This record gives sequence, C-alpha cells and structure tokens, in this order.
Amino acid sequence: MRVLVLGGTTEASALAGLLAGDARFDATLSLAGRTSAPRAQPLATRVGGFGGVDGLVRWLREANVDAMIDATHPYAARMSANAVAACARTGLPLGSVIRPAWEPQPGDTWQTVPDAGAAALALGRRPCRVLLSLGRQELHAFAAAPQHHYVARTIEAPQQAALPPDLKLLQARGPFERDSEIRLLKAEEIDVIVSKNSGGSATYAKIEAARDLDLPVIMIARPDKPAGHVLNSPQEALAWLHGRAPASRRGV
Ligand code: NAP
Repeated sequence: MRVLVLGGTTEASALAGLLAGDARFDATLSLAGRTSAPRAQPLATRVGGFGGVDGLVRWLREANVDAMIDATHPYAARMSANAVAACARTGLPLGSVIRPAWEPQPGDTWQTVPDAGAAALALGRRPCRVLLSLGRQELHAFAAAPQHHYVARTIEAPQQAALPPDLKLLQARGPFERDSEIRLLKAEEIDVIVSKNSGGSATYAKIEAARDLDLPVIMIARPDKPAGHVLNSPQEALAWLHGRAPASRRGV
C-alpha cells in the first residue's frame, strides 16, 4: 500500500519509523523544507511544497498513492487544508494525526490571543523582556512593539528583514528540560513568554518553568485546521492504515 505522510513533527517521524519496519507499506515522508538540516528519517523523503492543491493532486496520482496521513504541526493549517481538498478531489482516504493542545494547569497565567500581531499588542506599552518561542516565521510581527527586549528561540536563523530592533537570537532545537528552561528564563530576566499551543512534551518545559517562576504566558491560539479521519497517535495512524490495506496485500 502506497502511503504519503505529511510531516515536520515528532509524530510524523515516529510514524515513519513504524512504517519503515512494516513490509505492507511503501511510504514516503514529505517535509516542507523549512529546516536546512532535518533529522535523518528511516523512510524515503521528499522535500518542498507540492504547488498547492493542484500540485498535490498531481503528485498523489503520479506516485499512485493509496492513502495519506497528515501529521503536520497544529499550526500548519494551509498544508492540512490542501490535504483535505486533494483527498476530496482524488477520493483518497486521509487520516489526520491531531496532537492534543496543552490545557492551563493550576498556577498557570495564560492570556490567549488569536495571532502573533495580537500577541505583540498584548505585551503592552511598558518595556519588558520577552521570550518568543513561536518559530521564526512570525517574528516580524513584534517589530510593531519595538519598546520590548526580545529573546527569540528558533531552530534556524530568521530570514525576514523587519525584525524587532532589540532582539537576541538563540538557535536551539527541542526537546527542552524544565531545569534548563528555568535557568534560561532567569539568566535572560524574562518577564513574559509568547508561545504557540503546540502540545506534546518536547517544548512543554517552558510552560512548566513559567508556572514555577510565576511568569505569564501569552498563548497564540491554534488556527482552524481541516482534518480527515482524526487519529490520536502514530500508533493509531498505523492501525488505521492496516485497516485500509487491501486484503490481497495484507501480510505480504
Ligand atoms: P503551512 O503554512 O500549513 O504550509 C505552507 C505551505 O508549505 C503549504 O501550502 C505547502 O506548500 C508547504 N508545506 C507545508 N508542510 C509541508 C509538508 N509536510 N510537505 C510539503 N510541503 C509542505 O505550514 P507551516 O506552518 O509553514 O509549516 C511548514 C512545516 O513545518 C510543516 O511540515 C509543519 O509540520 C512544520 N512545523 C510547523 C510549525 C509551525 O509552528 N507552523 C512548527 C513545527 C513544525 P505547497 O502549497 O506548495 O504544497
């Protein structure tokens, strides 16, 4: 059974590992190409956009794909919308691995805002020290609030021209530990964290550290992300694919 996995997440990498060890599947992992040195994967990997819905439909047909798994990040809404549209057009089954959102715990002080622009406004007029933990693509939104000192942690250096003037860049890739997050927040004298609600454990330590240090978090809400058949884990995705594998090819 030919499978296309839309990746760029720990769930997609885990599913790639499961599929690589299962002779019933001939799977390809697709990455957007945002990171220049992505982690090595055990599956055939293609990199770069497909060219919208039309390009994705073409790719699916040319590669004779039987099913698609969307395991993209909760904030990668455009790719998911394209996946839903392409599967509607081709009639292919689509499973979507949805990572549960973090929920505020006792001791958390969260302010939820709709997007990065609203997060910049929510920081207020008084200058403060801000940890930006939202990737590199939306850092430009904070140029609108230049009175603050920003520490931005990203995997790759940002490429936008319009960045906030007082910005310190830290390049690091999770997972992160609570103790080191506490050390970072103290060393940089951070007053407030801006974060996406990514869910999962790899980047949750900063939320725990904020709770421990009594720091507020401005949480950017998740976008509406279209989905196919909702799956809760890579293991569920594998089981769902097993259920769809043609009987004649099962056990091959
Ligand atoms: P997006 O806004 O939903 O997608 C923008 C465009 O990038 C898509 O239309 C598609 O281009 C291309 N694309 C996205 N994911 C792709 C994939 N897995 N394979 C091939 N092309 C892909 O996505 P994004 O938020 O920029 O995220 C890009 C990638 O980074 C995704 O793989 C996502 O899982 C990962 N990621 C995102 C975040 C985040 O906060 N957004 C965090 C961690 C990881 P075409 O229309 O040309 O096909």
